[in-house]
Amino acid sequence: MTHASKTTTKLAEEYATPIFDHLTGHDDALYIPLLNHAQSQGDVSPVINLVRNEENFPYAIAHPLTGIICLLAVAESAYWVPIDRIAHSESCSSCAPIWRDLKNRVRTLKPGETFYAAATTHSPMGETRILIDAEDLEN
Ligand SMILES: [Zn+2]
Repeated sequence: MTHASKTTTKLAEEYATPIFDHLTGHDDALYIPLLNHAQSQGDVSPVINLVRNEENFPYAIAHPLTGIICLLAVAESAYWVPIDRIAHSESCSSCAPIWRDLKNRVRTLKPGETFYAAATTHSPMGETRILIDAEDLEN
């Protein structure tokens, strides 16, 4: 996959939205639901840790393709992850729709197919991987 275009630097607090506050304002575990839906091994929905600065704000950039807020998250490695692909567990009523929608999408895939890929983007953290959804490329 080619490099995504250069992103601008902003402070995480400039991105504050109800979703951002919901995800970052609690200590409950965060997941990337169904990230590894095409893999037979490992966690299908890995738990992530947000990378935070000295003021305890998560690092954030705008997605180079969609403009959606992305937070720097660490699962096996560091990734920028769009905020609408991060969720608490399914038992969180605010986050349950994300799980439901992604499960419905996975059901439409053929075996081994995936709608997720990793690209590399410029960011305040240097060249960093970013989670890309096939839908991001359709616009
Ligand atoms: Zn939630």
